Amino acid sequence: MNQSIESLHKILQLEKAKGYNNTAVIGGLDRYLQGWRSSVGDATTSPFSIQSDFSYAALTQQQRETWVTTTLLKLTGKTSTSSIQINTQAITQVIPPVEHTLDSPITIIKGVNQTVAKGFSRMGLITIRDMLYFFPRRHLDYSQRRTVSELEAGTEQTLVATVFEAQQVNLGTRRSTEAYIGDNTGTIRAVWFNQPYLARTLRPHSKIVVSGKVGVFKGKNVFESPEWELMEFDDLVHTGRLVPVYPLTQGLTSRVVRRILKQVIDGWAHQMSDYLPNEIQTRCGLIPLASALEQAHFPKTLYAKDQARRRLAFDEFFILQLGVISKKHNWQELQQGNALDAVDETIQRFVSSLPFSLTKAQERVLKEIGTDLKQPKPMSRLLQGDVGSGKTVIAIASLLTAVANGLQGALMAPTEILAEQHFNSILTLFERIGHLEQRQSNLCTYSYLLPSKRSLTVALLTGSVSPKEKQATHQSIREGSIDLVIGTQALIQKGVHFANLGVAVVDEQHRFGVMQRSALSQKGTQPHILVMSATPIPRTLALTLYGDLNLSIIDQLPPGRKAIRTRCVSPEQREKAYSFLRSKIEEERQAFIICPLVEESDKIEAKAAIQEYQRLSEMAFPDLRLGLLHGRMTNSEKEKIMRSFRARELDILVTTSVVEVGIDVPNATIMMVEGADRFGLSQLHQFRGRVGRGEHQSFCLLLSESTSTEAQERLGVLERTQDGFLLAEEDLRLRGPGDFFGTRQSGLSNLRMAKLSDVSILELAREEAIRMFGQDPELKKPEHVLLAKERNHIWEQRIASAEGKSKRTHAASQADSS
Ligand code: ADP
Ligand code: MG
Repeated sequence: MNQSIESLHKILQLEKAKGYNNTAVIGGLDRYLQGWRSSVGDATTSPFSIQSDFSYAALTQQQRETWVTTTLLKLTGKTSTSSIQINTQAITQVIPPVEHTLDSPITIIKGVNQTVAKGFSRMGLITIRDMLYFFPRRHLDYSQRRTVSELEAGTEQTLVATVFEAQQVNLGTRRSTEAYIGDNTGTIRAVWFNQPYLARTLRPHSKIVVSGKVGVFKGKNVFESPEWELMEFDDLVHTGRLVPVYPLTQGLTSRVVRRILKQVIDGWAHQMSDYLPNEIQTRCGLIPLASALEQAHFPKTLYAKDQARRRLAFDEFFILQLGVISKKHNWQELQQGNALDAVDETIQRFVSSLPFSLTKAQERVLKEIGTDLKQPKPMSRLLQGDVGSGKTVIAIASLLTAVANGLQGALMAPTEILAEQHFNSILTLFERIGHLEQRQSNLCTYSYLLPSKRSLTVALLTGSVSPKEKQATHQSIREGSIDLVIGTQALIQKGVHFANLGVAVVDEQHRFGVMQRSALSQKGTQPHILVMSATPIPRTLALTLYGDLNLSIIDQLPPGRKAIRTRCVSPEQREKAYSFLRSKIEEERQAFIICPLVEESDKIEAKAAIQEYQRLSEMAFPDLRLGLLHGRMTNSEKEKIMRSFRARELDILVTTSVVEVGIDVPNATIMMVEGADRFGLSQLHQFRGRVGRGEHQSFCLLLSESTSTEAQERLGVLERTQDGFLLAEEDLRLRGPGDFFGTRQSGLSNLRMAKLSDVSILELAREEAIRMFGQDPELKKPEHVLLAKERNHIWEQRIASAEGKSKRTHAASQADSS
């Protein structure tokens, strides 16, 4: 007996040393164990035994390790004593040795070795749960089964057939497989290019299912590289059904991915507990979670697939809404804010000093903001208004109410150029109502008759303010001697402490992450927050994304604005476009030329701009004054270029998307966008907003190399409308939320099933979320425990991705200012 134990011990140690490859004994461990079992006797009589149905070969690598380690421990603990106390139960408990949960790594799945697991992890898939939510891009409809005689060329069909013969052949230069397959109505040829090895798998007489398009070769039907599988199981994976098409990555083939997903779904989907209360499922007509997951991957019918998507999309919106609503609630109900006085008077006085009268929309928005500011709870409001709709004066009016109450105001812009522009336009406006008492480079003091203040000090705080000035500014902010500070992210850095921040405004907020927005609000004791965005987002969507904010919309441009004439320009018309641009420059206007690369790295984008700049300077406009602006330049370089462009020392500014927002050069009337088809409509609309800011008629020329009618049609929308909201809707429809810019940091990229165009599901989910919040705001009731868990899980992910994003933004802005 001892001898047997010792021998097993040796073998297991060897197995361990060899890395659990089942190579410690020739023929595999199972054969050895079989022999070992008979040498130690019957499982029921022996004190230490291994179940007869135990199979080491069937365990995963990790299970093997656990089993070997545990068994070794038991063996070594006992070999010295004469009576061996390891009972059957103890051993069988080891099998299966690992408690698998939905959070177990996917390596527990048969067929997932290290290489496969690595492939999946590249797509962010680590656990079984990840896999359940790894939805196919689309499905191929191979559900239409035909007989050979019914096959039609040109459509996708499925045939169940018998293999008559299969052989390797040369088709062109490619080693391929050719097979003749058929049923009792006829025979058809099938070929698989570049897959000679298939010939061996497709044995004569085996039953096979093939799905794919039928083509015609020399007058005869032929299946060309169809999906195929042997008809061993009733449950088809690759053929004969709605077949999922998954995103792939290097080293993963569609067959492997599909087979693994099938195992995951079959084995695990039903283990997901359904966190959505029955009541809601019934009321909203939703199918249970497990079948939704199943049907989303391997749907029985198109209808089932739809139902699955509806349920999963609902969940995503619902959980997003639950989080957003409770955030808003916490912010508004649980926090005390500063109720401001003299709000209306302050706003009124400022407004009447303006050189223009407000639009109706601006007036309405100011009223909404005014109402918020008088409340003893902090405002959190999103102000949306198209480019040029006049958001800045709204921001300034709001900031002044803080100052009138002896509190501070802060305005944060995404770039230095914009911060400086805001600073300058504020100074210009204050010239009209106050008297400049003192000016240093980044600091101005005005005598200004506010209810409680005799003078007002405004400061600019950006990365390029000198360290000495920066330190002084920090100190004045801390002491409260600065009333208004305009800045970049420099405002939310560590050294900045406000004496009493009353109102904080974030401009072009889509450029910031969720984290940065809240970082500014945390610089004060519950300041009122106004975030502004020129990205026009449809209302329902805005409620989802920023449901924690109240929404104000400026849906009207100041009077007298001329529509920007927009034209799509084909490659042949390029020269004509250049001479048009030249004619405008001869009329003393200026032009922007935006270079094509989007969202790739700064570096590549800069390179493209540099090349274009050189080409244009040498070939097209050698006699004109060209400037270059890109994200790789230092801030002072950028600033210098912008300044000379504004001062009309340059005719053409060649630039990248850094020039995107807010820049105000009224004399620039021509915008030319290279590679326009690569941009979203919303973004093109933003670019276009750089012109049309003065009295002259402005033009936007969209150059695109793509001759596809789809691209032409898409750009054509810009020719026809100036309505940013409409363009945003169109973007959504055409490109989906992934491409909808500014959505990444808001957690929308975590939506896998829901589309932003699913307005009815979105509204249903919002309604239910509000109802749920009313009944059980903290999800404390026992029937909501699972839901709370799911919500927390999703929100952790959401925050993680938002943090990831804000880190990147931060890094980018650091690179910017370096
Ligand atoms: P945006 O909403 O894009 O930030 P701005 O606030 O920069 O727009 O305003 C664009 C221009 O329109 C500015 O020069 C501003 O002074 C001017 N403006 C704002 N409101 C009005 C108005 N009601 N009437 C005329 N001009 C206005
Ligand atoms: Mg603006």
